[in-house]
Amino acid sequence: MTAQQGGDLSVEVKELRGRPGTLETLTRTVPMPAEFSTVLIGLPAGEDLELDLRLESVHEGVLVTGTASARAQGQCGRCLDELAYPLTVDVMQLFTYPERAETDSEDEEERLVTDGLTVELEPVLRDLMVSALPFRPVCREDCPGLCSQCGFRMEDDPDHAHEQIDPRWAALAGLAEDLEGSEDEDGRRG
Ligand SMILES: [Zn+2]
Ligand SMILES: [Zn+2]
Repeated sequence: MTAQQGGDLSVEVKELRGRPGTLETLTRTVPMPAEFSTVLIGLPAGEDLELDLRLESVHEGVLVTGTASARAQGQCGRCLDELAYPLTVDVMQLFTYPERAETDSEDEEERLVTDGLTVELEPVLRDLMVSALPFRPVCREDCPGLCSQCGFRMEDDPDHAHEQIDPRWAALAGLAEDLEGSEDEDGRRG
């Protein structure tokens, strides 16, 4: 199978049309498209995206099954350290021929259509892979993160702590900080 003008994830399937039971395999490494990411973690564009897929001709269209793998890279949501790990998702997607899709109007949005010439894997893989990324990635489950008061890396000294200020004095302390802050600003001038 060859890549079409639509990109590396636009896969030719015309050999499968009208031949239910016919199977083709797609084992290929392609460059990761852009925008496979969330805020803290993603699958960098241009890196390897490994496809290990079966494309099967069925009466309704083309059934795509298999796996897609890439390397997730991002930041720990607690300590902001760089992190990276391999991500593999299972793929199972039916691409329906348009004439089949029209006869059954239910869950139309869920349905992906193929013109019988190509299937567009990019939106399918984006949905699967981006939703498999953690919302708050961590470098390890027990990452102690950063001090909430000063941003110190807690891992470097687990005993790191700040003196607790009596809440009655907190307002005054805040006022003092404000004064210091404004002095600093003056001092920095010039
Ligand atoms: Zn961490
Ligand atoms: Zn601190």
